[in-house]
Amino acid sequence: MGGNRGTFESERSVCLGWVPGGSSSTCQGGGGPPKKPSSRELGLESDLCIPHLIFGDKHRLANAPLYSSLLAAYHHSLLDSSACKRIVILQARHNGHLSDRLPRSAKGGTQLLRRTVLCLPLAAILAWSAPLRPGASFVFPSRPKLVVILVIDQFRYDYLMRFRPYFVPGGVNRLLEGGAVFTDCRYDYVTTMTGPGHATLLTGAYPGAHGIIENNWYDRDQQREVYCVEDLSTRLVENRQKASPSPGYSPRNLIGSTLGDELRMATDFRSKMISIALKDRAAVLMGGHTPSAAYWYDVGTGHYATSTFYMPALPAWADDFNRQTPTKTYCGQKWQALAETPGADGMVFSHFEASPGETCPDPKFLAWLEVTPFMNEIELSFATDAIRNEHLGQGPETDLLAISLSVNDYIGHWFGPYSPEVADVTLRTDRDLAKFFGDLDKLVGLDNVWIALSADHGVAPSPSYVQQHKLGLGIAQPASARSAAERSLTQAFGPGPWIEDQDEAYLYLNQATLKKRNVAEAKAEEVAAKAVASQPDVAAAFTRTQFLTGSLPNSTPARKAANSFNFKRSGDVFLVLEPFAVPSPTLTGASHGTPWSYDAQVPLVLWGGAFKAGFYPTPCQPTDLVATLATLLGLTQPSGSIGTPLSVALK
Ligand SMILES: [Zn+2]
Repeated sequence: MGGNRGTFESERSVCLGWVPGGSSSTCQGGGGPPKKPSSRELGLESDLCIPHLIFGDKHRLANAPLYSSLLAAYHHSLLDSSACKRIVILQARHNGHLSDRLPRSAKGGTQLLRRTVLCLPLAAILAWSAPLRPGASFVFPSRPKLVVILVIDQFRYDYLMRFRPYFVPGGVNRLLEGGAVFTDCRYDYVTTMTGPGHATLLTGAYPGAHGIIENNWYDRDQQREVYCVEDLSTRLVENRQKASPSPGYSPRNLIGSTLGDELRMATDFRSKMISIALKDRAAVLMGGHTPSAAYWYDVGTGHYATSTFYMPALPAWADDFNRQTPTKTYCGQKWQALAETPGADGMVFSHFEASPGETCPDPKFLAWLEVTPFMNEIELSFATDAIRNEHLGQGPETDLLAISLSVNDYIGHWFGPYSPEVADVTLRTDRDLAKFFGDLDKLVGLDNVWIALSADHGVAPSPSYVQQHKLGLGIAQPASARSAAERSLTQAFGPGPWIEDQDEAYLYLNQATLKKRNVAEAKAEEVAAKAVASQPDVAAAFTRTQFLTGSLPNSTPARKAANSFNFKRSGDVFLVLEPFAVPSPTLTGASHGTPWSYDAQVPLVLWGGAFKAGFYPTPCQPTDLVATLATLLGLTQPSGSIGTPLSVALK
């Protein structure tokens, strides 16, 4: 059967049409000029046009999501003639560009290549091209060459505002002035820690789904605490020769996919995804299951390392980086405040003095260096080497680089959010980022890059600060909660031991005692939770049975606790601390890990060609970050993602 080729084009757009009763031969092109069909002929409510997607230079075409979708469809044999009963023909204005890039060995490809006419089921195109919001003039932008996700470990939203007067041009200000800044972005779960936070940012899910419930949790089967990224079957890799005897790390405990996993799968692993952090757990959890590489810093050697999960030996460039001993640059240096750091008056915060006969850098020096802002310089220098040597942003597909600047967390824990040390590391981070963005511009071109900035959690003031300013109790007393539960259970059911383990958020009941005393778990949980909740530093306590049976109270802490609770890994009684009851082991150290805003509210900034600059008070969650990026990149959302694309900030 013949029929009109329902292909037409306008000056700046490509439009879709269909051929009534079309056949494969019609799909593959026919004679005569295309005739513009009416919308009625097209069977559409209105003309469906997709402006700005295919036109432009070759690069823009190659990076257009539509182009990738077409290629994907091509690979998946959607061009089968039976699928062309109701067909859509699409023709690019610059035909040569499209045809140049089509796979020449594909089935039936030759004729298609010559004609540069593609057929797709109408439903597929309609689904792909559906607007993000009803009534919005949303257009899928060209894919960038590189997406950079920047996470600053322990970085509260208010740091952006408090320290903005001291930021230099080109660093954080570049993002604040040119990006979409969400001013009320808060995690909606309780256990705001590094492992869960990084996993949440890249999966778009909360710990209940991604399974990283804390940095460490108690494993009943192994009867010990496990570390979130431990993997005793792997070995550390820190050079080109052979793996170290030290155990390595892997994402074995991470449940479900990340943005990087989805990007890699969608491009048949042509997209590169690399994650880099000072902390192993940050690099591993951001990287997901299928990264090209994940690198972290090994303080024992002062080297950037990975594990045998990822590769048997470091690539040459990373080995070279280590061989140049980047830590050596800082031998003899002091950590002195910048002249402009508020409240610091140029003071020397810390310095390292080698004992006679010691060489630098030795392990003692490396331990000192690890809590100085110099670590961010080393980390970003490593990241720049990764971009240069792995050719990130130079390939045909979008690449993804995730960087977590971890030292801000170490310094924050030591000194607290209102200290001059935190002010200084924040200002230095800004300057480090200005340099990094400059390097990124030289290597990839910032026009080709999207940058997202966020944090894994915030932080509470130190207990001594809390007490000084009468904000609350100050220090949390987890041991008191445990002994209160043990006491109540003993009174109710006889001698224990009743509590098998306690970590930051959970009590784990002793299963052997429950059995021996013939006590139902639900009953014991209830007694323990009541005892725990009576403690002055505990705001609420929930039981495993409440999570399992859906009988949690209708409260904000309960909702956040439910997002934190993983049925397989979580304990029997869940504790939520009162605001300003800080889970810190010392009066002077600050900490985090609660649902309250100082821990939960973080920056979320989206910068690049797809985003409308401005400050957005629209409430959002860090889970929205990958939801937005996945949508823009035309990807399946990560498996557990509950995020919502932030359409308000899309061009
Ligand atoms: Zn952290």
